[in-house]
Amino acid sequence: MKTCTKCGASEVIIEKKHSGQRFCQDCFIQGAQLKILKDIRKYKLIEKGDKVLVALSGGKDSVMVLDILNSLYERNIIDMAAVTIDEGIKGYREDGVRIARDHARRLGIEHNVVTFKDSFDTTLDDIMASSSERGACTYCGVFRRWILNREARDMGATKIATGHNLDDETQAILMNYLEGNIENLTRIGPKTSSRSEKFTVKIKPLREIPEKEVALYALARGLEVHFAGCPYASDSFRGEVGQFIKQLSRNHPTIMYSTLRGFDKLKPVIKKEFAKEFDVGLCMQCGEPSAHELCRACTFCSELDTE
Ligand code: SF4
Ligand code: ZN
Repeated sequence: MKTCTKCGASEVIIEKKHSGQRFCQDCFIQGAQLKILKDIRKYKLIEKGDKVLVALSGGKDSVMVLDILNSLYERNIIDMAAVTIDEGIKGYREDGVRIARDHARRLGIEHNVVTFKDSFDTTLDDIMASSSERGACTYCGVFRRWILNREARDMGATKIATGHNLDDETQAILMNYLEGNIENLTRIGPKTSSRSEKFTVKIKPLREIPEKEVALYALARGLEVHFAGCPYASDSFRGEVGQFIKQLSRNHPTIMYSTLRGFDKLKPVIKKEFAKEFDVGLCMQCGEPSAHELCRACTFCSELDTE
């Protein structure tokens, strides 16, 4: 009979193919929490007194981040708040917003819901119905980053925590290799080094946790999460790369870890050669930090206005 590697219990909920370990529910939960708190210390993601703004979509990843960071919030080590961005994706986003609201209320933390409509006077659905210029994720990513950065400043946050997991991170690494975007690679890591104090530092506490384990954690902890997938996700190149890595992982269970470790070793070398230093000024339209006269969000908005 297969038993928990740690406590010997007979009800095993996970067998980690990459390490050969098996865990019962309690040992799995405890192990995941300890691993993430250890990574937070190792990569110096959070310092005592930080106010961490969780980018809370209501999906399994951000809900897990919230749950883990809550242990630091409850012990008064950090202050914590959350922001949920409503891109305006009909039939998809509404549930996520409700779930995010419920979690924030349950924990008694400050929580803002910010819509694309209020910020840019349009929704992602409207953009996609009228424009074929770029993929949905390109607009979505740029607009979301703009909102997150502004909210973090308005809410007095010192860090923004996002739910990127091991699958997301290896996808980003591989995607940028495949597309030859070496400069983008220099910005991948557990923590964004702030190019300017106008940007709030972003941290990824789940960077070394596989997506499957994030889903299992939410289930094991009984946390309500928004499991539906975004209707625009399958259109993206990221989605194709994700499928490819998943397929490889079946016969090579350590492939995501080795991709990440290899990249982390290479990164200082790539950074030395390719990282671009540029002055960050302010966008003449919206006043947000930008390397150009117009930030990318305002550039997209002006393109959409003329279409
Ligand atoms: Fe936005 Fe793309 Fe994510 Fe959908 S899949 S929420 S469009 S980034
Ligand atoms: Zn702007």
